Amino acid sequence: MSGWQDSNLRPPRPKRGAITGLRYTPKTGANIKLFILTTNTNFYINFETMSLEKIKTLIIGSGPAGYTAAIYASRADLKPVLYTGMEPGGQLTTTTDVDNFPGYPNGIDGPKMMEELKAQAERFGTDVRIGEATKVKFSKNGNDLHEITIDHDKVLQAETVIISTGASAKYLGLESEQRLIGGGVSACAVCDGFFYKGQEVAIVGGGDTAAEEATYLSNICSKVTMLVRKGEMRASKAMQHRVNSKANIDLRYNTEVVEVLGDNVVEGLKIVNNKTQEIEDINITGFFVAIGHKPNTDLFQGQLDMDETGYIKTNGKTTKTNIPGVFASGDVQDKEYRQAVTAAGTGCMAALDAERYLASRAD
Ligand code: NDP
Repeated sequence: MSGWQDSNLRPPRPKRGAITGLRYTPKTGANIKLFILTTNTNFYINFETMSLEKIKTLIIGSGPAGYTAAIYASRADLKPVLYTGMEPGGQLTTTTDVDNFPGYPNGIDGPKMMEELKAQAERFGTDVRIGEATKVKFSKNGNDLHEITIDHDKVLQAETVIISTGASAKYLGLESEQRLIGGGVSACAVCDGFFYKGQEVAIVGGGDTAAEEATYLSNICSKVTMLVRKGEMRASKAMQHRVNSKANIDLRYNTEVVEVLGDNVVEGLKIVNNKTQEIEDINITGFFVAIGHKPNTDLFQGQLDMDETGYIKTNGKTTKTNIPGVFASGDVQDKEYRQAVTAAGTGCMAALDAERYLASRAD
């Protein structure tokens, strides 16, 4: 930003208080100039040379899919820029031991694994930036650049976009649950379990996440009541075995939550046995929700083809979306496997698909 020092270079004086001009040429990335006259003086300011940044490969999201796409894209000289989103590292930063990622015979801590993936992507030149994509305008025919707004104000243009925005925790949707988020209701035992050390807590869900988190909480809390709505758990046999081996986990099948009790903090739960309709109040101070995830695709609604639950549709065995040059990898397009290693695999595929797309455009 600069004021005019040399009167010979000044444009004609506009009226007091007026914005005199705005030149904006997004397709070429040329300058944006804004002439302003303040109300009190005839002084005007030039906001100059704010070029739109052009990127070959933009990666949105920083879980295993995003970082793996970044590793492959940077090694292929696609000069990727990766925006981390609001939860840098993604879902694995909320987990403890990852025991099933190949190459770690003794397991690895989730956040540590994400730090290492980031370092590996940066080693090959990925530009990792903190920020969130808040708006997208994809070019339908692939002839123009895709426009992505970061943090509501910075607009980027990208030849290819790899979407790796993952999925977020689901909640039951009870009014009392929503009101007490942050007051004892949490969707992340690993993040918040510590606050309930030595106390009695409950967790809802019957999948691997609930089983894993119940086990984690049982090591910190005096008692964990685990509420499963069916007569069986969906979790793997190995995870169920872990739950069953913990003396302080009180496993309740056919049980649902009616209400989270407490005005400002969680004081208990009203639960119902859906077979007998018997209602019971239990005293707890922490309530953990572990009932699955929702894909983070709201930003792309109306622009990308999605299934009925909001997962991005990809073409056959590729990561191609319905928009040329836009690819999707990881949990955002996979409701079936949802593993760190499968997310990483599709991240690799997305980078290869982007590379081939760019090569075909250059031909
Ligand atoms: P899942 O979708 O597998 O399980 C969700 C659970 O929540 C189910 O038991 C479901 O019940 C229950 N549920 C859903 N809605 C409600 C509701 N409104 N009220 C009560 N209960 C409800 O999600 P997860 O997050 O557990 O797992 C996702 C994926 O990640 C899976 O593929 C899993 O294997 C994987 N994973 C792997 C881990 C590992 O290997 N270390 C750790 C964690 C997850 P119902 O069965 O009745 O539908």
